Amino acid sequence: MTTTAHDEVVEGLDHFRSLTAKQQPTWPDADALGQVAARLAEAAPLVVPAEADLLTERLAAAGRGDAFLLQGGDCAETFAEAQADRIRNKIRTILQMAVILTHGASMPVVKMGRMAGQYAKPRSSNDETRDGVTLPAYRGDMVNGHDFTEAARIPDPQRLLDGYQISAATINVVRAYTRGGSADLRRVHEWNRGFMRNPAYARYESTAAEIDRALRFMEACGADFDALRTVEFFVSHEGLLLDYERALTRVDARTGEAYDTSGHFLWIGERTRDLDGAHVEFLSRVANPIGVKLGPTTSPADAIALVEKLNPTGRPGRLTFITRMGAGRIREALPSIVAAVRDHGSPVTWVTDPMHGNTITSGTGYKTRRFEDVLDEVSGFFEVHRALGTVPGGLHVELTGDDVTEVLGGSEEIDDEGLAARYETLVDPRLNHQQSLEMAFQVAEMLR
Ligand code: PEP
Ligand code: MN
Repeated sequence: MTTTAHDEVVEGLDHFRSLTAKQQPTWPDADALGQVAARLAEAAPLVVPAEADLLTERLAAAGRGDAFLLQGGDCAETFAEAQADRIRNKIRTILQMAVILTHGASMPVVKMGRMAGQYAKPRSSNDETRDGVTLPAYRGDMVNGHDFTEAARIPDPQRLLDGYQISAATINVVRAYTRGGSADLRRVHEWNRGFMRNPAYARYESTAAEIDRALRFMEACGADFDALRTVEFFVSHEGLLLDYERALTRVDARTGEAYDTSGHFLWIGERTRDLDGAHVEFLSRVANPIGVKLGPTTSPADAIALVEKLNPTGRPGRLTFITRMGAGRIREALPSIVAAVRDHGSPVTWVTDPMHGNTITSGTGYKTRRFEDVLDEVSGFFEVHRALGTVPGGLHVELTGDDVTEVLGGSEEIDDEGLAARYETLVDPRLNHQQSLEMAFQVAEMLR
């Protein structure tokens, strides 16, 4: 029997199995895992290849400076919070930010949720000890339970199926809330007016008034608001659990290429970006647009090697580097990496994640971040790219649409004591609704 191109593509998808895969759970029952993977392999895709291709084009535009990416959502989604109102609040927050950024940048904003699949974020690589009792870490709802009991912390492959179904339900809500008028530009701007009623935000009033005038101008000109009633909204998550990602990967008859249909965009985390590791190998073989997180230990040579492995044909929009250096380090750590990639010549879309390099513990013991550090890293990102003549292409943030108190600062001045009021995240601290909008106003100024 001769092997076809199709067989070769499929065979390549399993090469990662012979490599080291970091951060994987130890599933207690290989047969049960195999059965789950077989069911997922038959299941309907969550996204379709044509949508992933469209996103590649959008990210190519962001890489050229013709669009700006806004990617946001929880550090770790939970099954319990996959409810209509929570999802809607997150989408609203992202859409509200996008209007402000679109105006600031005078460019389209590509909207992407860290949503509908972000269920496998380990709280820690280590075990967790409380009152002398040590148990395996919580690794995300798609792996084990958050309760601090031995039974809850055992990885359960059934949770992969639950995660698939909850992702499907979430995507359904995302799709519903981003079309049919729910995302109407005028309505989104009305929500921003509500935000502006808080006197703490007076400094953003002139920008909000400008957006107001721009909308009235468009209306007066007879702009086609029907076209503005629906927005494109993409979903993404860290491609961490390789058994899950592999099971949802399908070869597209149209292009003969493999697509991971668990989300439009997948990224490789800072902890799993080893060039010879399983994650880089697996994602090198899917045609989705992909990202890699780059922390301050990245060398220019590491970045070039990732470019060559993950985007050998130099396809614009295929590869996004999401840098997360820390406000104190970005101005020193980023330039040599960006300059090396620029000189190499293969296109990369540069995005800043100003969250993960700025995590601290508050005096009151909470894992938190300072709003001012987050904004300072974004400023540093713009400064570095402007100095090098490269393009600052987007923003990756951990946020929620609710009024949580997880990040210090902002005009509402959440302080060490204030964190306790509504600290809900199971993993990393998120900007709340107000802080997210405030960030958008400040980043919009940087984009002008
Ligand atoms: C994350 O995105 O939640 C995360 C842990 O990021 P990183 O891989 O950059 O540390
Ligand atoms: Mn996180």
